[in-house]
Formats: sequence, C-alpha cells, structure tokens
Amino acid sequence: MVRDKIKQAISNEVLYKNLKSFVENYKIAKEKAYQGHDFENIRRQLNKIKDYSYDEIVSLYEQFKENAEAKGCYVYAAKDGHDANSYILDVCRRHGADLIVKSKSMTSEEIGLNEFLKQNDITPIETDLGEWILQLAEEKPSHMVMPAIHKSRQEVARLFEKIKGRKVDENDIKNMVKIARHTLRDYFFKAKVGITGANFAVAETGTIAIVTNEGNARLTTTIPNVHIVLLGYEKLVRSFSDSLKILRALPKSATGQIISTYVSWISGTYPASDNKEVHFVFLDNGRLPILKNPALKEALKCIRCGSCANVCPVYEIVGGHVFGSTYVGAIGLILTCFYEDEKIANELLKMCIGCKTCSVNCPAGIDLQSLIFDINAAISEKYHVPTYKKIAAYNVLPNPYVFSQVSKIGKFLQKPIVKNKEIDKIPFVSKDLNFRVLPAFAHMSFTKIYQKYYNENRRKLYKSRVFFYSGCAIEYFFTDMGLYLLNLLDKIDVKVDIPKKMVCCGLPSLHMGLGSAGLKTILKNLRFFDEDIDQDVLVLCPTCGSTIKHEYPKYTTISPKDYQKSIELRERVKSLSQLLSELGLKITYKHKYKVTYHNPCHQKRGLCFSTEEFLKPILGEYFVPLKDSDKCCGFGGSFSFDFPEISSKILDNKIENIISTKADIVLTDCPGCVLQIQGGLKKRGLFTEVMHLSEFLEKYTELEEIK
Ligand code: SF4
Ligand code: SF4
Repeated sequence: MVRDKIKQAISNEVLYKNLKSFVENYKIAKEKAYQGHDFENIRRQLNKIKDYSYDEIVSLYEQFKENAEAKGCYVYAAKDGHDANSYILDVCRRHGADLIVKSKSMTSEEIGLNEFLKQNDITPIETDLGEWILQLAEEKPSHMVMPAIHKSRQEVARLFEKIKGRKVDENDIKNMVKIARHTLRDYFFKAKVGITGANFAVAETGTIAIVTNEGNARLTTTIPNVHIVLLGYEKLVRSFSDSLKILRALPKSATGQIISTYVSWISGTYPASDNKEVHFVFLDNGRLPILKNPALKEALKCIRCGSCANVCPVYEIVGGHVFGSTYVGAIGLILTCFYEDEKIANELLKMCIGCKTCSVNCPAGIDLQSLIFDINAAISEKYHVPTYKKIAAYNVLPNPYVFSQVSKIGKFLQKPIVKNKEIDKIPFVSKDLNFRVLPAFAHMSFTKIYQKYYNENRRKLYKSRVFFYSGCAIEYFFTDMGLYLLNLLDKIDVKVDIPKKMVCCGLPSLHMGLGSAGLKTILKNLRFFDEDIDQDVLVLCPTCGSTIKHEYPKYTTISPKDYQKSIELRERVKSLSQLLSELGLKITYKHKYKVTYHNPCHQKRGLCFSTEEFLKPILGEYFVPLKDSDKCCGFGGSFSFDFPEISSKILDNKIENIISTKADIVLTDCPGCVLQIQGGLKKRGLFTEVMHLSEFLEKYTELEEIK
C-alpha cells in the first residue's frame, strides 16, 4: 500500500513542482529570518522551556485550570479522542449548533472531530484557507502549517467553480481569495460555536495564544457565542515570558517569517457578555504516559512549526500524504506511533533515510532522527521483517567469518554480470533497482590488502599510529579507498592499526529495525577493538563513525565495561579531514581540476566536523561550491534498495546540482555517497570523476609537516 502511494506521489508533477519550489524558497526565507539570531541557543532555550516531567505537566494543568476557571471559563480533561469529541458535541448540542466554524487544529484532525460532528448532524466549516480547500476536495492536510501545499491554483479554481456554479479564472488569485473571504464570512455569522486549537496555554495566567496569518482564528473566537479550544497537554507553558520565547522562533521556523500576521491572546470570557462561553478541552490520548519516558517525552516538546517536513529530503519527494499520517514530516512518523496506529507507524518509520537534517533544524532541539531510529528498532520485530533481512542482521553482519564467506559466494555469482569491477544491471529484479551502476565485490578484502601492505613495509619506523575502522563498504567493496589511506598516512610516517577482525558497525541492522541484532553486532565489534585504545579512531565512512559516536553509548548502557569503552571511543572517532587538520599539516593542491564537494549526511551532522571548511583553503580558486551540498544523495544504505523510487529521485536533484557546477571532480568522504553519486552519474552517461577524500589527497596533493 505504501509502495502504491509512493508511486502515485512520484508521478504527481504538481506535487513535485510545488514541493521543490516551496523547499527552495523556505530555505532562503528561514536563513534570512534567523539572521542575527543564535539558532543553537534558541534550540537549547526552547528545549529547556518544554522539558517537563509528568508531575510538572499535571501541576501546570491544575494551575491553568484554576486561573482559567477564575475567569469564567470551563476546563475539561479528556482522556482520549472519543472523550474529547463527546464533550465538544455536548457543548454544541446545548447551544443548538447545527453549524460550527473551525480554525486550523491538528489536534482535531488527530481525533477525527469533523467526521464525528458530521455523523451527529453538525456541519463543521474549516476557515483556514488551506483547510477549507481540502474540506472542499475531501482530502487530508499534507503539511502541518501549509495543509494544501500539494494543490495547484488550477485545482483550487475547479473546486471554487463547484461551489459558485460558474467559471473561476485560475490566474486571478485575487478573485479566488475574494470568493473564499465572502463565502467564509457568512459562516462566521451563522455559527453558534467556534472551535480552535492553541499554540500555547500559559499556566500562570490561564491564557491561550493562537498564531495565524489569515485572521480567521480571531473571527472564529469572537463572533460565535461559544469558543471551544481543543489542545494537547504539551501546549502548556509555565509563563508568559516562556511563551514569548517560543513565539519568536515559531514563524521563523514555520514559514520563514520574522513575525506572523496575527497572534490572538485569549484570557477568560468577555466581562460584558453573559452569553459568551469559553471551554478548554485538554487532550491526553497517550500524551501523559509518554511524559514518563525520558527519551520519548522529547517528542512532546514540538512547537508544530513543520520545519522537520520542510527540510526532509524524503518529504520533498513524496509529500505528507505518504510521509506521515495526521501529523507529517519527521515528527509525524513519531506521533503516528504515539497517537494513532503502531502498525501504520512501523511502515512510515522505514521511510526515514536517517539523514539527521530534521534533528539539526528543529527549533525545539529534538533529535528527531534518533527518536525515529529508536522507535523503529523497538517496534519493527513485532511486525513482518523479510527473512533475508533477519539472516543478514543476525547471522551475517555480526559474524566476520560468515560475512567473508558470503563475499566469496558473491564474488563467484557476480562473475557473469561484472564489467570493469562494476555491475551495470542486476538481472531478475525490478527495473527501479537498476537506477545506478553498482560496485562489484572486491577481489581481495581490505584486511588482506592491509596485511600484505605492512608485510612489505614492515621495517619502516613510524612516528605515530592511528586506529582505522574500515567498515563493510571498504572491507568488501571499496578496498582502494583503504589502500589510498595507507599510502597517504605512510607519507607522513603514521602507522595504521586495524581491528583484530572487521565487524559491521551495526547501523544496517538498526536501520532495518532489528534492534537486538544491532546490539549483538555492536557488542561483537567492540570486542575486536583494542583493549585500551589510546589512539584516534579514524573512519573513512562518516556513517560508521557517527554510529560509533552516537549509537554505541546509547546501546551499551546495559554493560558498564562496554559502555565505558563506547564513551572513550566517542571522543576518539574522527574523519580523515579532522585528523589531518589536527595534525596541522601543510597540504598543497598540485593540479588545476575544478573540484566540488558533496557533504555526507553524517559528516557534519554526525561527526561534527566540516570537511568543506577543511578543503576550501587547500583548493583555493579550484573549489566550486555545490548547491545544497549537505543535502542527502539518496543512498541511506538499505533505504536505496527498499525505496529505489525515492532514492533515485533524490539522486536526480543531487546530479542536477553537480552538473551545474561544471566541476571535474566530485569529492566526498563517504563510500556510500561515492557509490550512489558515481553510480548515478554513470547510469546517466556522465563521467565526472567521483572520489573519496583519501584518494583525492593521495593522488593530487602533497603533505608536509609544518616545522
Ligand atoms: S519536531 Fe521540531 S521541527 Fe518538527 S514540527 Fe516540531 S518543533 Fe518543528
Ligand atoms: S532523518 Fe532525514 S529522512 Fe529522516 S525524517 Fe529526518 S530529515 Fe527526513
């Protein structure tokens, strides 16, 4: 089912065009909006503001209730969707409402409020323009802030024609806005009840705030006699000043605006009006138990800005009707698991490529990728996992002997389809999978090449040593990258040590959602690292490095010895660029090729070191910047095999950007990115060289120690 939805989304040109142009404009607007602000500091602040325990949120709720009730409002705690819907229906009936107006509320989508009211003969009218368009189209929102982002103006014009019964000019946007305004204005006056959500609920005053750009919330809350606010407990904040801090970040991250057009603060009923009633319905629906889990409760810090969708490479290709359920984007994958259906969430979580872009962009400082990853690893095995994945994760990846036997079988089987060490086409598989040229298994493993190398150079005296973790890609496929490294470091008298045996880093198993297999691999791997590592641990694959740095300490807490080792490793893991930069060498580029750089997802966002900044002074005028250089290339390990349709589309964008640089060489520091980009370029008949940093530095630069 997901696969059909993906295919549909990918073939929808309107969706593709709308999302691409939105994502590009959003990026520029957001950067501008945050100019002069310390984004990292804002993230830390917001994360702290919303860091509540279960007990704290309950006491904030009590405080809000007391303050709101003192101002004549009603406050109700609803345990789930049915409870909240029933309470709202009861209020509507008491006031004889057969039509109600609503301003945008994701919480009401979560509990299916519109459907429930309709079943009970009450007509809900959405008054946010995007939501109203979707109501006319009988569709669900595909974005939390811009619900109708997937719709074209032509489609909107056709919808308006239906309600007006006459031709509507799709190019006359002003007229379309006028139609919406006139039609909706009538509803505000007919409705006896207005229903809204809230962006914050301030406990110290019993006040809520609603942030909009259209002013419809103001009409919804003021014209009808009854106002019902439906909100989750996570909207509570301690103080007015805390809410202002969130308010400053929200529009910047949501739409790239410095401030939004309307902020409505509602504190109690109108003293002059006997008729006005304000109800606050606080929804639990699984929120309160989550607050008891220190890791999962992070997700409740979300301020619903939608940024984690806007920056997500997968969302950009398939949109919110595929990448999410009620809530979309990275937070949507998580909240679907909490509030909706674990089985649906299980499918959605697999669609995360793990690029970490959402994590570094979330203004609330939520490490979304890590949460997605952990939830996926925790729930996957309850559902179907293909047998081949289980065999790979439990039997091959943690076992170097079995892995090397598999590589031998692979070498034998690949013979008929390998040409120049490459596989252009895998036979008998879906054609979607052949969107790139793949590397063949190497003739000899890197460990064997390494042993041979040092047997030949064994009399040399080295000044220092570094521990090198090659990872599966270099061990079995890209052995040359490892050999270039040995040569490069040999030039500066650095001896390379490797683990006693090469075991997978564990990420592929974790990514497949097989948490226990991942743990098994991690623990096995740790055994093959030296007992007391006191050297730097070098990786040529930032994904392996990032896994060691971030996942190992998380997964080894059950064993104090392994945990201690993981903590030590965390500080020592380095990319080649970081290691060379710390050695303080003079690196001279000896050629005139124009070079561009693709920034792998786990380099800056995982290993926290910018290779781009390292390269710029070395390459000088020969460095050509790549647009969106830090945007994922679409590889994501098993992701590119599970979702080749999405992977190849993401790659198309990367290749387009590469072509426009006119560079001679594309440089990167991840074997997976080399596989994807090089394979994609070749498949499209383009032969720009794609190189790992180790090869580039060894071939085209000279290294000297600074005396
Ligand atoms: S998780 Fe973060 S980025 Fe995503 S909507 Fe919430 S606050 Fe925004
Ligand atoms: S990690 Fe990347 S792919 Fe996954 S949800 Fe976040 S932005 Fe999207």
